[in-house]
Amino acid sequence: MATTTAEIGFDLSLTEEQELTQRAARDFATEKVLPLAAEIDEQGKIPAEILREMAALGFMGTYVPEHYGGAGLDAVSNALVVEEINRACASTGVVLCTHVSLAVDPILHYGTEAQKEKYLPKLARGEWIGCFALSEPASGSDAAAMRTSARRDGDHWILNGTKNFITNGSLSNVAIVFAQTDPAQKRKGIAAFIVDKGTPGFSVGKLEKKLGIRGSDTAQLIFQDARVPAASLLGEVSEGYRIALSTLDGGRISIAAQAVGIARACLEDSLAYAKQREAFGKKVADFQAIQWMLADMATEIDAARLLTWRAAAMKDAGEDYILAAAEAKLFASDVAVKASRDCVQIFGGYGYLKDFPAERHYRDAKITEIYEGTSEIMKLVIAEEIFKE
Ligand SMILES: Cc1cc2nc3c(=O)[nH]c(=O)nc-3n(C[C@H](O)[C@H](O)[C@H](O)COP(=O)(O)OP(=O)(O)OC[C@H]3O[C@@H](n4cnc5c(N)ncnc54)[C@H](O)[C@@H]3O)c2cc1C
Repeated sequence: MATTTAEIGFDLSLTEEQELTQRAARDFATEKVLPLAAEIDEQGKIPAEILREMAALGFMGTYVPEHYGGAGLDAVSNALVVEEINRACASTGVVLCTHVSLAVDPILHYGTEAQKEKYLPKLARGEWIGCFALSEPASGSDAAAMRTSARRDGDHWILNGTKNFITNGSLSNVAIVFAQTDPAQKRKGIAAFIVDKGTPGFSVGKLEKKLGIRGSDTAQLIFQDARVPAASLLGEVSEGYRIALSTLDGGRISIAAQAVGIARACLEDSLAYAKQREAFGKKVADFQAIQWMLADMATEIDAARLLTWRAAAMKDAGEDYILAAAEAKLFASDVAVKASRDCVQIFGGYGYLKDFPAERHYRDAKITEIYEGTSEIMKLVIAEEIFKE
């Protein structure tokens, strides 16, 4: 006798509210973002109007409580929104992922009441954009080796150093910045700060030119005796590293959803193309070789989405989701890269041209295996968690 998911206490259906959110995101992404995706990639810029509309729909603070200006939904809803936006445009998608999961989230979870009141309404309503500054020129995976320093000076902290590869770096009004207060303390010496744009000594350095997600802004942030008020410390002085890691755990659910969105774009675009392109007197969709690629894509996308939803649901339930988030990101990013490779293949020579979306998906997909922890680092996290069990 077949067992339903409800009988085993595991419900995979979305609530009415989640379905409405998904539909709103899909309509917006299809009507407003998708038609601009090629231009965003080509110009290396996202029109401000797109970000404004995304904010008006509540997507810049999906799971921020309503009393802080958010939509008051949950992490599953955020994953649904992220998938839809990334299905249309991964550049726009990463602005959203970074803002919500890496800038808003740590303030929501570790901020004082005063910090929440100061920052969350503006960020959740999209009036301000946020970024997360952990990586440096000489430290990425090994984030604890950071050289940016923070020295206490009266009622201020003095920050010195350079942060590298910061998504939304030049666009942001506020940055979550990690710095070492005492190298002898190693990880325990790392502190997190909320740093406002315009802070004396804080400037934006060079903007990076990239393989993919070209519409998103990736910048260096420079701190030269930057004077940050003591009230801008996020959490305790010794808590910065923990805040960074736990923020990245949540961020990985977003990147998994981004990868699912990119992979879905590959499947939908490949399917449409294969149904109309002819070779040897048939549609290429009639060849079993093509059907198998599409079947693999469809199966793997569903599996990646289930892992992503599971991690998001665990976050909502207040469960430990470190393992689930790392598994979702590892698997979904691999699925996106493979789907994008097969998408170019199904488009044949046209897949290699800028006139079609396949080559953009191919370039965009790769980053999901790198940022917020590379695939190798995901395997380290997963191994550590399963050995613990
Ligand atoms: C477009 C883009 C946007 C980004 N956005 C942000 C952002 O907003 N904020 C931010 O702080 N950072 C950001 N990053 C940085 C990103 O998170 C790092 O690039 C990433 O974590 C890898 O660090 P790294 O580049 O220093 O590579 P490295 O750490 O030097 O790694 C090089 C290689 O060695 C492997 N490796 C390293 N350590 C191990 C190990 N212990 N075991 C096995 N293999 C290992 C890695 O997997 C990789 O293959 C962004 C990067 C890019 C490219």
